[in-house]
Amino acid sequence: MMSKVRKKVKSIKIDLNKCNGCKACEVICSSFHATPKYSSNNPARARIRLTRDPIRDVFVPVYAGEYTSAECMGRDKYVIDGKEYDECGFCRASCPSRGFFKEPDSGLPLKCDMCEENDPGQEPLCVQWCLADALTYEEREEEVEEEVKLSDIERGLKSLVDKHGLQNLLDTVVRMSQKS
Ligand code: SF4
Ligand code: SF4
Repeated sequence: MMSKVRKKVKSIKIDLNKCNGCKACEVICSSFHATPKYSSNNPARARIRLTRDPIRDVFVPVYAGEYTSAECMGRDKYVIDGKEYDECGFCRASCPSRGFFKEPDSGLPLKCDMCEENDPGQEPLCVQWCLADALTYEEREEEVEEEVKLSDIERGLKSLVDKHGLQNLLDTVVRMSQKS
């Protein structure tokens, strides 16, 4: 069952032309998510990773997204303003075909959480640390369709309605209540 709810949508706008490849975003993200917080920094643990090719002036920060257990059957290459970007260059998946977005010790997938443990009102750490202004944080409210979580009883009733039809079910309940 779906219903309309108002939700805060958080997004980070990435301006590839402004990114200079400094990797500050990787450093601060891995440090903020270290245990204990800020105890170490290792870009391999960052939830934002940079594809960097200074000779071709290609710098692409990408945020860790969903985990996928299987790699894609095909590959895409983008050419934008005459610059060719690597295969999978913009993909956010934690995928078996590459090393990005995996915790190096455990191999478990990493995902950007928008620094949810940050103090309220603070922008995500990578945005704060990007001195080139390549990352811009935005928030907006949106009305979205969300599935209403059903209780066990509701789920059971729904499956009975789907199977027998509402009228049959109501007739049966009336018959049962008359007998009791
Ligand atoms: S928003 Fe936070 S969790 Fe996501 S990449 Fe930036 S620093 Fe890491
Ligand atoms: S901190 Fe900003 S300029 Fe530096 S690599 Fe990250 S996105 Fe690019």
